[in-house]
Amino acid sequence: MTVYCLVELDAGTVADASLRALTMARGLASARGADVAAVVFGEAASVPVAELAAYGVMNAYAVAVDGYAPQAWARAIAELPNLAGSLGEGASSWVKTDTGLAVLTHDHEGEAGPAVLAAGTDHGNEVLAHVGAIAGLPVAANCVAAAPAPGGGLELVRQRWAGLLLEDAVLDAPVALLTVATDAVAAVPADSPGPVTVHEVKPELSAGDLVVRAEEAPAAAGGASLATARVVVGGGRGVGSADGFAPLEELASLLGGVVGVSRVVTSEGWRPHAQQVGQTGTKITPDLYLACGISGAIQHIAGCAGARHIVAINTDPAAPMMARADYALIGDLHQVLPALIEALRAR
Ligand SMILES: Cc1cc2nc3c(=O)[nH]c(=O)nc-3n(C[C@H](O)[C@H](O)[C@H](O)COP(=O)(O)OP(=O)(O)OC[C@H]3O[C@@H](n4cnc5c(N)ncnc54)[C@H](O)[C@@H]3O)c2cc1C
Repeated sequence: MTVYCLVELDAGTVADASLRALTMARGLASARGADVAAVVFGEAASVPVAELAAYGVMNAYAVAVDGYAPQAWARAIAELPNLAGSLGEGASSWVKTDTGLAVLTHDHEGEAGPAVLAAGTDHGNEVLAHVGAIAGLPVAANCVAAAPAPGGGLELVRQRWAGLLLEDAVLDAPVALLTVATDAVAAVPADSPGPVTVHEVKPELSAGDLVVRAEEAPAAAGGASLATARVVVGGGRGVGSADGFAPLEELASLLGGVVGVSRVVTSEGWRPHAQQVGQTGTKITPDLYLACGISGAIQHIAGCAGARHIVAINTDPAAPMMARADYALIGDLHQVLPALIEALRAR
């Protein structure tokens, strides 16, 4: 029995969110006496073998699908060895028990089978939703803990309401499909890494599987993705206009990061929704989040609470973001950012 983990790459290395998912996959595998296998989309040569070994992976499946195509990725996963036979048609539903415990049930018989985990990123959630739709299986999203349940299935704790609530749940299905919250599970390497065997997979895809596909990847566009960037320079209403983002772009590029924004900024049409951080945007987990002219509304914090360090620049010392920040700079971002850029350039 195998616990599979979809591994996303960021500039050729395993994305931090996937390292967290691998950590949970390894914990689940060891509790079930199973092994961990990584699923990487790309050529065999692009599989980061040393990193996967460090996280306890024994087998890696290099799947030859060019670029991001959610249904094609899901089809390829559903056809992996040991998985295809366990996936089948069926009906699933959530049931609330008398104790209030949520139970996700699937009409099936027999022992717990394999599991497929992915990071709770846009890609991870989308691909696993497709796997669930293909197989007629339930998917539990944004899990922070998973362990075998006494009566079969899995006991889960998962985030609801953008992480504001934690729900105890039981997942009862022939194949467990889970995504792992990107900000709640620490990435911990294995005690005793072993060798990784790489298997090349060429999935049989129909034209329909490839109808939806990304035309441009962040790496090809020259940058990291918002969900996986190590540095995010955030801008809110205080930036003042679309043009006002030029210094934030420059600072992000000097720090090797990307720009993220508040919802006011996307609502104003200053920046695209793809850059929105928050409850209805992307959850970020950078080492550094530099929040400029952002008040720190709860819906924004839902997206950036996983940042390791927050530095806030705001004219209002009472803005909630200032209380969240490790360092708070009280001042006008239009003066602070140029000074910061000049200092970085001088170095
Ligand atoms: C259902 C729902 C979902 C939502 N989802 C999201 C979400 O995903 N993400 C999100 O961000 N919001 C979301 N929101 C909106 C959220 O409630 C806030 O309205 C929004 O985050 C505020 O954006 P802001 O901080 O840029 O603007 P404001 O709250 O207006 O704050 C602007 C800040 O800039 C400061 N400032 C002004 N000028 C300067 C200057 N020159 N220099 C420095 N500081 C300056 C001000 O002091 C202020 O603190 C959601 C709301 C709802 C109801």
